[in-house]
Amino acid sequence: MLNIVLFGAPGAGKGTQAAKLIERYNLVHLSTGDMLRREIARGTERGDIAKRLINNGNLAPDNIVMAMIEEKVKEHASSEGFIFDGFPRTIPQAEMLDAMLLEHDLNVTGMIALNVPEDELVRRLLERGKLSGRADDQNEEIIRNRITVYHEKTAPLLSYYAEKGKHVPTKGTGNVDEIFFNLCAAIEQLR
Ligand code: ADP
Repeated sequence: MLNIVLFGAPGAGKGTQAAKLIERYNLVHLSTGDMLRREIARGTERGDIAKRLINNGNLAPDNIVMAMIEEKVKEHASSEGFIFDGFPRTIPQAEMLDAMLLEHDLNVTGMIALNVPEDELVRRLLERGKLSGRADDQNEEIIRNRITVYHEKTAPLLSYYAEKGKHVPTKGTGNVDEIFFNLCAAIEQLR
């Protein structure tokens, strides 16, 4: 199985690239952001708990995120692999992912990071907010909070995977096809 953690700050372009990668490599796309937005839209208990946190630019609780991921991994256990998009976002999530995959005799093949400068992230998110209507993309204060949370809780995952020899940095600026080309090269390097 090819199990890729697609990593990057909010606005780094993970969702856009994940959509292209799943087609090229026949993988299952697991976006915890999309799953949480679906839970919110359906008005589930998980959605109710996550909603205020997300709209303020904070993270959803690890236990909710892990439960959603575990359901999907079980559901697609016989697929050719997964693209984890926006997950893991904390060290406990990464540790739980490793433990969960190990139970199925699987592991993370590699973590591919999209590197994008901060000013560019804010610009992209404000632009996306105009089109998507997402509450967390509407104002610069919330966006800056998401980036702060990223530095505090999520960026430590770079060393977590680097220590395992699994961190592959890529350039996340340029046009969508150039970035896709870089990601495919990174995947070939991992296989
Ligand atoms: P982006 O990466 O552009 O911020 P996502 O769609 O990945 O967007 O996530 C939107 C929001 O959903 C995050 O800001 C966070 O509040 C919540 N979220 C998504 N994935 C996770 C996760 N793995 N752990 C905790 N919260 C998450």
